[in-house]
Amino acid sequence: MYIETVWKDNSNYYLSSSDKARIMKCIIILVAIIAVSCNHQNTDNSKLMIQRSDLISIPLILPGSLENRKLEFQGYVNSARNNITTFSKQYGWEEFTQQDFMDSVIIFDDKIIFNKTVLKLAGEDTAMKLPDTYCATIEKRTLVAVSPEFYANVYPEGIEERSYEKLLTHEMAHRLHVEIFMGIVEAMGPMWFYEGFAMYVANQFAESQSILSKEEMITIMKEPDRGSYVKYNYIFRYFVKKVPLKELIIRAKNKNFNEELMLMLN
Ligand SMILES: [Zn+2]
Repeated sequence: MYIETVWKDNSNYYLSSSDKARIMKCIIILVAIIAVSCNHQNTDNSKLMIQRSDLISIPLILPGSLENRKLEFQGYVNSARNNITTFSKQYGWEEFTQQDFMDSVIIFDDKIIFNKTVLKLAGEDTAMKLPDTYCATIEKRTLVAVSPEFYANVYPEGIEERSYEKLLTHEMAHRLHVEIFMGIVEAMGPMWFYEGFAMYVANQFAESQSILSKEEMITIMKEPDRGSYVKYNYIFRYFVKKVPLKELIIRAKNKNFNEELMLMLN
């Protein structure tokens, strides 16, 4: 369209045949340059579109107060997905991450509405109480999470570099763990272990300075109620230095798994 206009404008003037030949030559070069640059642009755009569509292939629902931060949240979700894919490849589990663990992502700026949504998705009584520090989960293929600000506020212990991305990775790691066992939740092992695994995948508390004695570790491992994630993380990392991760994951489904590990502490 642009070239056509130039040509028409030029045709209003008298031009010698050599001028015309020169102009023709210039136009041919110009057309070639534009063609190459358009082609180049198309390639870049299509790459960009692939990345973008990948980024937004999972519908992201934000409350009005966070709507202007859509790109930021898409970044968190995408980074978490990449973390899971990269981790899975390292251990030969990539077949379990070929499909996303969720069909949509919903972020909340209100913990009460978050709680109600989680309980509703889980088919539980929506009047049930959930801990304040319960900030994200994947239920019925929906990733639900509170805002990064709320998370940092209720769980200051969890503040570290990229902590929100790590929170989302942690939730996806639980799904990966379940997928490895074809949906059999019981095969994931005791609570300290599956939470420790999710933190290990998400690289949470990797710089933690906390140290536990063997007696403290045994007490925590025996405790069925939910305890400190920093301590779970310490215990998980302690054992993963002694037993290869894949072996630990497989052994965790054994009935005596906890006892077997505790014997290693003696
Ligand atoms: Zn968890």
